[in-house]
Amino acid sequence: MIPKTIKKLVVANWKMHGNLKQNAALLNDFVATLANLKHTQVVVCAPYPYLAQLQSALQHSDIAWGAQNLAKNEIGPYTGEVSAGMLRDFGATYVIVGHSERATAYCESDENIAQKFMVAKKHGITPILCVGETLIEREAGVMEMVVSKQLDAIINAYGAAVFANTVISYEPIWAIGTGLAATPEQAKSMHRFIRNKIAALNSEAANQLKILYGGSVNPQNALQLCIVENIDGGLIGRCSLNAQDFESICYAAEKAAA
Ligand code: PEP
Repeated sequence: MIPKTIKKLVVANWKMHGNLKQNAALLNDFVATLANLKHTQVVVCAPYPYLAQLQSALQHSDIAWGAQNLAKNEIGPYTGEVSAGMLRDFGATYVIVGHSERATAYCESDENIAQKFMVAKKHGITPILCVGETLIEREAGVMEMVVSKQLDAIINAYGAAVFANTVISYEPIWAIGTGLAATPEQAKSMHRFIRNKIAALNSEAANQLKILYGGSVNPQNALQLCIVENIDGGLIGRCSLNAQDFESICYAAEKAAA
């Protein structure tokens, strides 16, 4: 459950980067520098082997931690998979679900992603559902249709109420890791579309939903994006690997929340 006093959420997605030494330096810096945030929840999502390190470094801070994926099944003969229960064992309270890098490389279907979203919820882990369109889809003007279909996989299977106290991250695929972020206007329009779509089905869930923007957020554009209506924070890839950059983004979110 995301506390009501929390207005913004900033999530670090370390992807397949880091090692024990680099992680320790980053985490120590985050803990020391981000202790004064009042309205912004910071979350660090690292590769599975480092969950124990996150737990020991962050457990006495206000920074939460999580994983970048989880299994759709709860237990069983699924070699190489990691379950929601296992994430809980290491204190994870967030998990990224359906990131486009995974969906593309491992052919994850919207239905699989929907199952992962639900299994995370069932285990008390807040899912961060990634949605977004390719450049070709944006240029063809079908970006809302694409995002709508991604949301429908969850709505049709489980209903819109399941979005209460969860996170959706709008991540245009063309903006991820390219240095070319969506403009505040482009993000505003899609975030409004997402909120309205959920609200039309369940207004309470829509109010309790955080919608993040992800895709080349940096210290220069973070405030401009975070002040936009319906942008509740960011999912940060590259800039979460640099302490100063990530902390500037967190403070921009805090400023926007004030
Ligand atoms: C991401 O991986 O979710 C992401 C937004 O990456 P970047 O910030 O590097 O574009």
